[in-house]
Amino acid sequence: MQDLTSILEEALAAFSAIEQPAVLEEAKARYLGKSGVLTEHLKALGTLSAAERPAAGARINRVKSALEEALQAQRNRIAELQMQRQLAAQALDVTLPGRGVSPGGLHPVTRTLERIHTLFHSIGFDVADGPEIETDAYNFTALNIPENHPARAMHDTFYLDPTHVLRTHTSPMQVRYLETHAPPVKVIVPGRVYRCDSDMTHTPMFHQVEGLWIDDSVSFSGLKGVLVDFMRRFFEQEDLQARFRPSFFPFTEPSAEMDVGCVMCHGKGCRVCSHTGWLEVLGCGMVHPNVLAPLGIDSERHVGFAFGLGVERLAMLRYGVNDLRLFFDNDLRFLQQFR
Ligand SMILES: [Zn+2]
Repeated sequence: MQDLTSILEEALAAFSAIEQPAVLEEAKARYLGKSGVLTEHLKALGTLSAAERPAAGARINRVKSALEEALQAQRNRIAELQMQRQLAAQALDVTLPGRGVSPGGLHPVTRTLERIHTLFHSIGFDVADGPEIETDAYNFTALNIPENHPARAMHDTFYLDPTHVLRTHTSPMQVRYLETHAPPVKVIVPGRVYRCDSDMTHTPMFHQVEGLWIDDSVSFSGLKGVLVDFMRRFFEQEDLQARFRPSFFPFTEPSAEMDVGCVMCHGKGCRVCSHTGWLEVLGCGMVHPNVLAPLGIDSERHVGFAFGLGVERLAMLRYGVNDLRLFFDNDLRFLQQFR
């Protein structure tokens, strides 16, 4: 048998050269395993005389402890080495600039709606909302829109069934609100409306804000005052010009369309205003007695005005957007400009 000193030297040299934990355990088996070199020495003790046995046994055990100690030291070295390699591989450069957080922002239509709310709220208007699926009766009949009116034709209106439509305007809320609120009322109703139409200035869904003011001393000049003041504050132009042109809506009489001086060219004429210097911004009028009478409101005593404005239209003019569809494409390059 190999002598113990050379076994120890050989084993220590073998252990210290190993860098893989599995290889180290194999080496351990070679010396200390069931049929390892040192184990064979221990088995051979039986062949010695009783007098030789204790000293030989003690020598073998010393070598065994030395090997076990070396083994544990090498295990620790390997673990340390692996940790160093891992740290080197996953090095983190803490001096690099951060990626930054990009904050979200409100959609331009939402911003415009909030601006409209704030401005009307500041002069005492309440805010209400109503159903987007509306009955034919509220959407048309109650608003004095007779059976044969073009607005009822299928090409304008999304019909869900013969008596239900996606509301084509927020005006049904004039009737719904007056059913549950006795005059005086002063309310705006923002919301989505739907029409079967799509091009640069039309989308199948868009937002309107309906306004309604019923009292016993409301006049057409009051209507003009409220709307001109609103437009001046909305566009932040104190000297914004405005004009009212006679128009027709079945549910108001008299009816008017309101123009403001072009906010792009200040009335000089440009592409946005088709070189007229004016922009059409809303429709309005005094609420028709035929709308008020079925609600039990005496139009001799209570008068009022209503108006409806297109939110996207105002957003396009305020932000200089030339295609309505951009609001609904969800292109981040567009939306990020409104953060
Ligand atoms: Zn213009």
